Amino acid sequence: MPDFSKSKGGEVAEASAKTGRDTADFFTLKEGAVCFVRPVSDIRDLITVQVHMGVPTRPGPKGAKSWPQQMSAVCQNDTVFMISENGGPDGTPLYEDGYGKCYIHLNMQEVKGKFGGSVATPRPQTWGLLAMREPVKEEGTGKLLGFRDITKNWTDPEGRAHRIPRIVVASQSYSNFWGAFISSAFMTGSICCFDYQVKRTGSAEYEISAGRETTDHQPGTESWNAYLQAVELTGMTAERIISDQSSPRYYGRFFDPSVPFDDEDQDGGAAEAAASAADEIDKAQADALREKMAASFGMTQPT
Ligand SMILES: [Zn+2]
Repeated sequence: MPDFSKSKGGEVAEASAKTGRDTADFFTLKEGAVCFVRPVSDIRDLITVQVHMGVPTRPGPKGAKSWPQQMSAVCQNDTVFMISENGGPDGTPLYEDGYGKCYIHLNMQEVKGKFGGSVATPRPQTWGLLAMREPVKEEGTGKLLGFRDITKNWTDPEGRAHRIPRIVVASQSYSNFWGAFISSAFMTGSICCFDYQVKRTGSAEYEISAGRETTDHQPGTESWNAYLQAVELTGMTAERIISDQSSPRYYGRFFDPSVPFDDEDQDGGAAEAAASAADEIDKAQADALREKMAASFGMTQPT
């Protein structure tokens, strides 16, 4: 398990990911659309890692129903996977097993991404959890009273059904996204005590504004437990998704053609990760990919 303390400002109570590995649900928003979110991860819990964006994938396995053209991947050379800076041979960095020799860094320098640069040049992306919210309006007047959680059904590995808040993983840049959240917290020191309106104004531009501070709904209050329980139940944490999207298995499945496919690749192993890439790739392609994935796997369409 990587040491995430090096990549964030503090400790996090990492939820147990032992059961019910839920399909990752990523924050996506169509250009021009607006949504409302409540950060579940506070400033100190945000994790920044280097990400290779929109990397062309290897050809998919025979019989795969749908296969993404390109995927994003967390760089295997990120310091989060480093055990020590000079513990390797000749004082080189020592990495966890399977890390430190990023396939994309080593083999894809010549491959160009959508911005014209090499896909082997990673960009820092900051990861955190957001609860999806919806406005509550006064009947008749339409006056905005506040916000409530958007919920979803979730079935645990024992087959028990739960109604839980819909929490998504946002992997976004600091400058275009998270920075605005953090600036709004100059008095509170926390981004968890506000609902935010997020409007996507361009392919990578967002307009983000904070609502009023809610002292009755923030970490430590009764209502916050719904988020902690949902994260514990589903095991969906930014840490886990980063681990998944940097794993030797993930790199083998999507990029390194010398690695044999396994059974899961045949039936939708791509769906989880495809959703993450969708936000970063060309919009038309992303929409097509999302539709294809939704059709194949019955995923909820993010709006
Ligand atoms: Zn890399």
